[in-house]
Amino acid sequence: MAPEKVIKHSKRYYRKRVELFRLIDKIKLWPSRKGVLHGIKSIEKNGSMATLTTHCNRTFTINDSRSSRAARWLRNKWFMGVCGKCGIPDWKLDKYNSTHFRRRQGSLLLNDEEFKRAG
Ligand SMILES: [Zn+2]
Repeated sequence: MAPEKVIKHSKRYYRKRVELFRLIDKIKLWPSRKGVLHGIKSIEKNGSMATLTTHCNRTFTINDSRSSRAARWLRNKWFMGVCGKCGIPDWKLDKYNSTHFRRRQGSLLLNDEEFKRAG
């Protein structure tokens, strides 16, 4: 196995109205209701619902809503603490820290096909 490279993360920008599922697909973090940030192990999508499994083996059923509590917390990076059992690596938190959400600027995380349609 190759040694992990130390990468200094450049700032990345996502749109505020990015879909929640796309966002968590990308950042693989989930803030629980108590404000604990968990690492996402897997996401099982079922229409507008999804079941998340965290690395500490908790499951959350969520809605793909941009205005949900979790979506807001993720955008604002609100959390009280990080789950000790999930063992979220520092680079992932650094990456999350360097992620910014803007109204008119940044990626909506669309795939190429959708990007063309959105023009
Ligand atoms: Zn956890």
